[in-house]
Amino acid sequence: MKIGIVGLGLIGGSLGLDLTNQGYDVMGVSRQLKTCNLAIEKKIVKDASTDFKILGQTDLIFICTPIAQILPSIEKIIKYLSRETIITDVGSVKGEIVDHATQLWQNFVGSHPMAGTANQGIEAAESHLFDHASCVITPLPQTSRDAIDKVTTIWRSLGCQVYKTTPEIHDQAVAWISHLPVMISANLINSCVNNDNEEVVKLAKKLASSGFRDTSRVGGGNVELGLMMAQYNREKILSCLKEYQENLTIIIDNIEQKKWPELETILTKTQEERPNFIL
Ligand code: NAP
Repeated sequence: MKIGIVGLGLIGGSLGLDLTNQGYDVMGVSRQLKTCNLAIEKKIVKDASTDFKILGQTDLIFICTPIAQILPSIEKIIKYLSRETIITDVGSVKGEIVDHATQLWQNFVGSHPMAGTANQGIEAAESHLFDHASCVITPLPQTSRDAIDKVTTIWRSLGCQVYKTTPEIHDQAVAWISHLPVMISANLINSCVNNDNEEVVKLAKKLASSGFRDTSRVGGGNVELGLMMAQYNREKILSCLKEYQENLTIIIDNIEQKKWPELETILTKTQEERPNFIL
């Protein structure tokens, strides 16, 4: 099987490394020529170009560009493909993309590997990024069984646990566990920085340790990705943020009113529930 990757950044580059290591011929397309050259040099791909024509003979293509470029990329490549070629993407939001992509190309299956780091670009690509990660695929009722099976098999070969659901359920779930945490974490960093006592901020920066590292990681990462999550999953993230705000108001009230048993109840529940999310 000959594989194509569009967008040779953190996700696309990491995919290229693992798939090349598995023995596939991987053809890459990226926006910048220097990225393409680097991808060849680092053995992420067999060949790469800024021209989509290079994907002409591929059997399966992963679109790994920023979310806003996924549909425009599909529009540009389809004229070079045979009808059997399967296209998948790795976008963090599925609803709008899967609907439109399926209209453009019937052999399309949406994917979202739940793997990443705080870094971006081809320099951030690493092998085994997807090992032990979850990957959600979001076929529609009309998606071909063959395309679903091939995409599932390849994600499994990369070490992923594959889950299948609808784009709608995917977007709701990731709003809670991925997109909302980005906004909360960003707001945490922002609130610390905006503290008007300079001496406190200076000391806090020195004292910040593992707790702050964990809670600030996703808010201090890829800006473009955070912005796209908000733009493309706007309604779902808004409803999560509002519910979060209501729960925060309860916590503030408990502390203001010294309702310690109520606060203890919340903290006991969160302590019990966390292991159910982090397996
Ligand atoms: P990234 O590191 O910024 O990589 C994206 C790459 O796409 C860039 O390096 C850029 O390469 C290339 N690119 C941009 N516009 C392009 C275009 N029009 N045509 C071809 N290539 C283009 O971002 P990423 O973190 O890999 O994210 C890529 C996708 O993965 C996004 O859709 C995101 O939702 C999804 N995702 C990200 C994560 C995560 O944690 N980061 C996790 C799961 C899924 P050049 O160097 O050539 O400009």
